[in-house]
Amino acid sequence: MTPLLQVQNLAKHYAVRIPDGLGHRRATLRAVDGISFSLSAGQTLGLVGESGCGKTTTARLVLGLMQATQGRVLFEGQSVPSTRDATWRDLRQRMQMVYQNPLGALDRRLPVITQVLEPLRIHHRSDPLEHMEQAQALMASLGLAKSLWSRYPHELSGGQRQRVVLSRALILKPSLLVCDEPVSALDVSIQAQVINLLQDVQELMGVAYLFISHDLKVVRQVSDQVAVMYLGQIVEQAPPAQLFSEPLHPYSQALVSAIPSLWNRQQKTKIVLQGEPPNPLSLQSGCVFQQRCPYAEDRCREQSPILTPLTSERQVACHMLAQKPQGQNTLVESCS
Ligand code: SF4
Repeated sequence: MTPLLQVQNLAKHYAVRIPDGLGHRRATLRAVDGISFSLSAGQTLGLVGESGCGKTTTARLVLGLMQATQGRVLFEGQSVPSTRDATWRDLRQRMQMVYQNPLGALDRRLPVITQVLEPLRIHHRSDPLEHMEQAQALMASLGLAKSLWSRYPHELSGGQRQRVVLSRALILKPSLLVCDEPVSALDVSIQAQVINLLQDVQELMGVAYLFISHDLKVVRQVSDQVAVMYLGQIVEQAPPAQLFSEPLHPYSQALVSAIPSLWNRQQKTKIVLQGEPPNPLSLQSGCVFQQRCPYAEDRCREQSPILTPLTSERQVACHMLAQKPQGQNTLVESCS
């Protein structure tokens, strides 16, 4: 079966000029650098990594909100254009976005029900009365009481606002929601409610999520597959049970070791990465993680590792792991 979403060798590079002595020199910023993944209908792919690793750029590329430097995005087998033509508008009805800051995503001057109705109005669907019934039923099903429908965004709590944002994203019955840090601006107690709501919505409507977050615990809870990004590249992809119990890539190991409740259960000590992430404007050739990797060797400085399948469900971009026969990932043991 064709996956709902296929991302193939996608990249977004920016040509920049940086000060150099009395003049400037040209450099390339590789915000996203040749990533590939797929997502099936009704499934969730979690995308994790430090701030600035390219997660949000990936989201914008997937939705055709910016032009890729290379590669392509296929949605339901159809190429997603980056020009806002009729094809893009048609596809965008079935691919919606949930933003990090619900207050910023809503118009403070309009009652929330008007904003939930807006996508139906924009896409010229018929019968305003039918629209209203549809919006009211959806808002009620997402836990928004009738008394809240005519309020303005600033009159709602953070959790209620995110429910409004979700209602607006779901009103066109999309097949894919791109969720960019959907709970990071919410209190911890509200986060749990919104995550449960997202899971209920997925079960009821069969919508797939590209779930972007820096919070590994949240990603672990909601995802069917997790992709770990570092400096614009995917360095590991695996089901959450495997990734969080036995991370293979040295960067994934450091990320997971920062979650005490997971890592300490395995009686391992926290891995502290040495140094800072390198300047993305002056990356060396070879592996993007070489400057912070305790296992880097000559080959890592010469050749960039390719994301390579280790099993049918798991891929890793690391020279040390790609050469090991299955089940003999000695890099893991040496990190214990
Ligand atoms: Fe470390 Fe080399 Fe693997 Fe990169 S390829 S993660 S530098 S061991």
